[in-house]
Amino acid sequence: LAALDAVPGVRVQRASSLYRTAPVDSSGPDYLNAVAEVATTLTAPALLDALQAIEQAAGRERPYRNAPRTLDLDLLLYGEARIHSTRLTVPHPRMGERAFVQVPLAEIAPQLVSAAALRAVAGQRIERAGPIEVGVRP
Ligand code: AMP
Repeated sequence: LAALDAVPGVRVQRASSLYRTAPVDSSGPDYLNAVAEVATTLTAPALLDALQAIEQAAGRERPYRNAPRTLDLDLLLYGEARIHSTRLTVPHPRMGERAFVQVPLAEIAPQLVSAAALRAVAGQRIERAGPIEVGVRP
């Protein structure tokens, strides 16, 4: 969140709690997930570039598809835009199937998540793991 907020033209407006979830289509330890809302002057592709630069800086490697990862940043929504390009699909095509998106999204933007959407992901284990503490260093 601090790295996102430090990108020129990006301001973090709101962030959900952290949620602990079992890997979906993947293996390894539990994941920690959260959703944030930003205000930005960047275009969607430029915002994706910024997200990928933050992933790289966190030491992200992609040894194989859906490998366990240090940090994965997805662009879920960009206002009401619908984007279908070779490197970007918005709204994110799998966001509706994932409790780790719908539950934190409902926390910060309940108007974007229907009761039916929450019911659809109700079988997936997800537990609130506490707030994100921005700026706190161990
Ligand atoms: P992942 O390995 O899950 O981070 O997927 C990354 C790839 O998905 C990137 O190369 C992006 O170009 C592509 N992609 C398509 N749509 C999106 C999106 N809405 N948010 C993030 N990555 C996306």
